[in-house]
Amino acid sequence: MYNPKPGDSIDSLDTPSMIVDLDVMEENIGKLMKVLQPTGVDIRPHLKTTKSPILAKKLIEAGAKGGCVAKISEAEVMVANGVEDVFITCEIVGKPKVNRLVELFRNHPRIRVVVDSKEGSSAINDALATAGFERPLQVLIDLNVGHNRTGIAPGEPILALAKHISSLKHLDLIGIHGYEGHLQHLHSHDEREKNCRAAMAILSGAADLLRKNGFNIRTVTTGGTGTAEFCATSPGITEVQPGSFIFMDTDYRNAVGPYFSNSLTILSTVISKPEPDRVVIDAGLKSLTTDSGFAEPKNQGVTYTPNGDEHGSLTWEQGPGFSVGDRIEMIPSHIDPTINLHDFYYAHRKGIIEEIWPVAARGKVQ
Ligand code: PLP
Ligand code: MN
Repeated sequence: MYNPKPGDSIDSLDTPSMIVDLDVMEENIGKLMKVLQPTGVDIRPHLKTTKSPILAKKLIEAGAKGGCVAKISEAEVMVANGVEDVFITCEIVGKPKVNRLVELFRNHPRIRVVVDSKEGSSAINDALATAGFERPLQVLIDLNVGHNRTGIAPGEPILALAKHISSLKHLDLIGIHGYEGHLQHLHSHDEREKNCRAAMAILSGAADLLRKNGFNIRTVTTGGTGTAEFCATSPGITEVQPGSFIFMDTDYRNAVGPYFSNSLTILSTVISKPEPDRVVIDAGLKSLTTDSGFAEPKNQGVTYTPNGDEHGSLTWEQGPGFSVGDRIEMIPSHIDPTINLHDFYYAHRKGIIEEIWPVAARGKVQ
């Protein structure tokens, strides 16, 4: 039976397999801590990237204060595996989600969530009232800082929502969340910094407005891999949420590299050489996502083009190229959705597998 285990060489893995270079991953974690810890902000990595409680615990051991998750089903996986301090960054709306939240909160009081509407906050409050909880759920208002995804507008709208939340007995408004996702992948460092600092001024301005009106805003949370260092040194920010830095991808490498390095690749095999100057590997659309461009082979000067669900072609600029049976490491173009295509991480050091981690929250999109 196929049963890879620690101590095996990565050469014994079937492909495609998601492999992690532990030396590089640990260096990325260390570099993040080195930049952010001196600023004094809390580091709450976004766990939507790894979807792994084992990796969440490694990040917490390295200095993180809990984690963020996108969805309630991710939160369920984290708390079931001992990661209690989780912040859900997508709005929880609709009876099925709200009921799940109430059930989660019953035994996991450290859960916190975002709200961006009166309807949404009232529905959660009412469900908590019906469940008969004494203690309130901690909520943060999701603010639009220019991403134009979710989030209420600054000024009068956020103030009105804060007033509404303060009338709800089962919610405790502890902070503001404002994610500047539109800036993460700007490839110019200066543009990214300038726009980020402007977005942070909107975020901390909204926090100040609420404080002036008597609200006890303790947490102001934001940031991703592309911006965390700017956020952490902007006035009024208390917490940052980078996720992708741990593994990186080609798009982030082009934007924020070379500070962090690519530590995760999809190991694949050349299964066919239909032409002298083209080979086909066993990794296609079901192994590597394409929303941020095509993945890139680790080998320089080699181009990958997906050929459907299970195949991809490699072409090269010079030399004899590849032969049937060769093994190729592919660097994903967008790390989070690529990880969600795989069951396991095979974490190795210099080619020897040390640990195998399930992608425990794989497919948890609810
Ligand atoms: N915070 C929120 C709300 C996000 O949606 C994301 C990613 O999309 C992140 C933080 C982490 O960003 P990154 O993976 O780009 O570091
Ligand atoms: Mn992403």
